[in-house]
Amino acid sequence: MEAGTALTRLKSGNERFVSGALASMTERESLEAPIAILLACSDAKVPPEMVFDQVLGDLYVVRVPGNVAAPAQIADIEHAAQSFGTRLVVVLGHSGCDAVKATLTQLHLPEEERDESLAATVERIRPAVAELLESAIAGDEAALLAAAIESNTLAAVEHLLHDSDVLESHQQSGGLAIVGAVYDLCSGKVSFFE
Ligand SMILES: [Zn+2]
Repeated sequence: MEAGTALTRLKSGNERFVSGALASMTERESLEAPIAILLACSDAKVPPEMVFDQVLGDLYVVRVPGNVAAPAQIADIEHAAQSFGTRLVVVLGHSGCDAVKATLTQLHLPEEERDESLAATVERIRPAVAELLESAIAGDEAALLAAAIESNTLAAVEHLLHDSDVLESHQQSGGLAIVGAVYDLCSGKVSFFE
């Protein structure tokens, strides 16, 4: 399936999710290859199959706190793109992301006071949010978090676009598209960056 067609399917699925007219509870299991690869946050409130109202088998989902594209996630996505021929990759950030929130909090602390258990996540997210901490919105907690979530999502898109020879060759010759989006926990709406 072409990336554009897959993207249209996800958008109309999210519209059904927002309106409450779900298809996935009644449709049988899909026997086709996954139409999209999702890199999403581990947060329990963001299950991609439900958010996009897709049936079993339709989405290949990689979940990790803060939807970061570390080498393990990139390898997993490369594998899915190669094995299934799936042509759309979506990085799905979400409002109120605790991983991004924790990163902003940790970066305010002196290094010796930071939580070791969060170090790996913080180091992955930090490059995408460091500049925002020095910007004019740094004093506005809600605006800072929203901007950091968007920036972190786009950073993962950039990593997938440029840090993988496999994905790069699929983009150039195979019609692979990699897009970012943010899910709003309150409205249920997914906004794509396009
Ligand atoms: Zn999250």
